Amino acid sequence: MAISSKRKENYGDLKQNVKHMQVCPLCKEKFEIGIESNTLKELSEYGKFPYPHIHLHGNPLHAMLCYIDKNLTVRSVGVINSVEISRNIDTFQQLMMKWANPY
Ligand SMILES: [Zn+2]
Repeated sequence: MAISSKRKENYGDLKQNVKHMQVCPLCKEKFEIGIESNTLKELSEYGKFPYPHIHLHGNPLHAMLCYIDKNLTVRSVGVINSVEISRNIDTFQQLMMKWANPY
């Protein structure tokens, strides 16, 4: 599936979706995976690909670890079952920012 034009339109320059929906190997749910444009720009400048990207989801909470190449294709996927979140205000604020913004 190509990058959804509707999603791209909504997110403007904030986020770039990878080229395909990604299925979580654990829960089998499909997700659109996206990288913040600012992060992508930095990665392109320093050539740090494939890039590790975590997508948190599910109940119980778990994560997909996706390695994304410079063409925005997911090269490999792993599952992280053990998730720990620091209980401090900085982490909470960052989580809320991620929640409120589409990246
Ligand atoms: Zn999952």
